[in-house]
Amino acid sequence: MKLIILGCGTSTGVPLIGCRCPVCASKDPKNKRTRSSLLIQTGEGGNSLAANILIDTSTDLRFQALAFNLNCVDAVLFTHPHADHIHGIDDLRSFNLAQTSAVGGNPPVEGNLLVEVNPPIPCYANQRTVERIKVMAGYIFKDDAEDGWKPNLTLEAVDGPFMAGGAEVIPIEINHGASSILGYRIGDAAYLTDCSAIPDASLKLLKGVKILIVGALRHEPHPTHFTVAQAVEASRAVAPQRTILTHLSHSLDYAVDNAKLPKGVELAYDGMTVEV
Ligand SMILES: [Zn+2]
Ligand SMILES: [Zn+2]
Ligand SMILES: [Zn+2]
Repeated sequence: MKLIILGCGTSTGVPLIGCRCPVCASKDPKNKRTRSSLLIQTGEGGNSLAANILIDTSTDLRFQALAFNLNCVDAVLFTHPHADHIHGIDDLRSFNLAQTSAVGGNPPVEGNLLVEVNPPIPCYANQRTVERIKVMAGYIFKDDAEDGWKPNLTLEAVDGPFMAGGAEVIPIEINHGASSILGYRIGDAAYLTDCSAIPDASLKLLKGVKILIVGALRHEPHPTHFTVAQAVEASRAVAPQRTILTHLSHSLDYAVDNAKLPKGVELAYDGMTVEV
């Protein structure tokens, strides 16, 4: 299984529009952060059973797909309904098209033709996120020809382990300020973005995880995100072999702040790839 950090930036991305701080002005490519998203490639490389599982459709999904040669999405797991994790959802129609062509289908001649020929991409989230996505991207789930070409998706609420892309996925409830949102565990890897606390019941579900990817916004406290120190502390409770901090703001400089982290903990960067 392979994990690819498609983006590790907080909701604004880094650099921030209009900001001239040293990190935003930095030439280090590891300080260029698109909005947070993870790609999980299950199975062996080149294996026909391999599947691409995308966590969140970030605002930067199109850019990320082109940057990292992502041409196929077998399933999408949504963590929560904040805009930076959802607003790339419309770009899923390009995967519908690519996947239709791959099985001998035709590109759409008229708006709704594709919807009839392509297979829907299955998407999963908790109940509240399902409801919010249906408001935020309501046109996708309505049958109105005037909306033009739109993604063909199914959206299912989950509250326990399920199968996606041939892999068992375990939803992990975490706190994001006052909200309860989902992280996900697949095999020995877990992804907990936008986290401010991990309930005890969820810590149990994380037992034995080898790779932990967890959100850490900055050093200064924030009401809905772990600081770097809090994420490091959470990592100690989970005790994985390797911890990767994501959803990083422009106050973290990759070279400076990564060097200060304890052994086994590191900052993410866009394109970071981990084999599990
Ligand atoms: Zn976020
Ligand atoms: Zn800045
Ligand atoms: Zn959020």
